[in-house]
Amino acid sequence: MTGTGRVALVTGAARGLGFAIAERLAGDGHRVVLADASVAVEQVAERLLASGLPVRSVLLDVTDEAELAQLQDRLSDWWEDLSILVNNAGISPKFEGKKRPVASMPGEEWRRVLAVNLTGAFLVTQRCLPTLCSRGWGRIVMITSQAARTRTPIPGAHYAASKAGLTGFARVLAAEVAEHGVTVNCVAPGRIASDMTAATDAGVNAALSAAIPAGRLGRPDEVAAAVAFLASDGSSYLTGASLDVNGGSFMP
Ligand code: NAD
Repeated sequence: MTGTGRVALVTGAARGLGFAIAERLAGDGHRVVLADASVAVEQVAERLLASGLPVRSVLLDVTDEAELAQLQDRLSDWWEDLSILVNNAGISPKFEGKKRPVASMPGEEWRRVLAVNLTGAFLVTQRCLPTLCSRGWGRIVMITSQAARTRTPIPGAHYAASKAGLTGFARVLAAEVAEHGVTVNCVAPGRIASDMTAATDAGVNAALSAAIPAGRLGRPDEVAAAVAFLASDGSSYLTGASLDVNGGSFMP
């Protein structure tokens, strides 16, 4: 067998950070499953496959428990080698380019953000856990946010709450699965150029860039590089941690 023999599952991989993470992990020799609620994921995976990378796609809404119940069957021949899970799928709704303040945030918007960003990660993780814990080696990476680590002006309260929640979830899980050789860590990106950030006013993004010590927004491949490290053998004693990838905009 060529490659590492390991399978990685990346959620929200049709574009942006998730796509960059999937491409990087495949480039590192893992077989990668690109999972996304958008059908665009099929074409995206075809493109990577055509370039020689060992990937496949699966249409998956991380909030849909019926779809999740079928995941193992849909990935049948790859499932037993599943060793790396990246919970990346996330949303950050804006209204006319801006967050809605708490005072006027519809309850449905709050619930949806928590459902995708936090409960979705829980549901996917729970499905994958028996396999991840079965071989004495596993890696789980949560894509959180600078908004989980400090106050940030752009995303709404639901987003900050979901990402802080994901960070707490990761810590407890890290302690629960450590005895199985499974690590659980967070990557907390600052402002990264993607479709999600493009939903914010261009002027706001320019002003933010100027305030970042690195003087620019981050790139998805720079987040993928941090994930690749946390998914590697070299990170074996690193668990329950958050890695900030933010060009210096937050230094705790
Ligand atoms: P994006 O909007 O460009 O891509 C998100 C992907 O997730 C899309 O392909 C979308 O279809 C998918 N998705 C959304 N809901 C889903 C669901 N229910 N089930 C499955 N897939 C779903 O966003 P991005 O900028 O690439 O962000 C990726 C992750 O990184 C998110 O968790 C986001 O919160 C986090 N993040 C991004 C930034 C940034 O600056 N871009 C900063 C910090 C954290």
